[in-house]
Amino acid sequence: MKTTRINHLGIAVQDVQAAAAVYEAMGLSVDRVIEVPEQKVRVAFIPIGESTIELLQPTSPDSTVAQYLETRGEGLHHLALEVEDIEAALTELDRQGYRLIDRTPRRGAEGRIAFLHPRSTGRVLIELVEPESQED
Ligand code: ZN
Repeated sequence: MKTTRINHLGIAVQDVQAAAAVYEAMGLSVDRVIEVPEQKVRVAFIPIGESTIELLQPTSPDSTVAQYLETRGEGLHHLALEVEDIEAALTELDRQGYRLIDRTPRRGAEGRIAFLHPRSTGRVLIELVEPESQED
């Protein structure tokens, strides 16, 4: 599989505006804030180099991010690696015995995404991202 970069780091927060201040103090700025109803989160995108820091605020108590905040509090939630072919990556990781949360890709804020189970990745929630192909 071809893995090209850290697409983004996801950080679970109670409030994206309040959390953004930390990164603004470090010379970064919020590019945009969107709602992702499928995942019941509000996401603030903070670009840095070829990657992005994503602040994730739950918009509903049954959001997985809300459950995360409940048990662990604010902090690093997941690491997103960019792959060229997400189906091929999932097939290969499945064959190697990794536990997949998503056996088929679903739609995320950045393209097609799939999560691996942290129990098989050293307790790090890893998201694979195949970005939307750019139409010209
Ligand atoms: Zn993500």
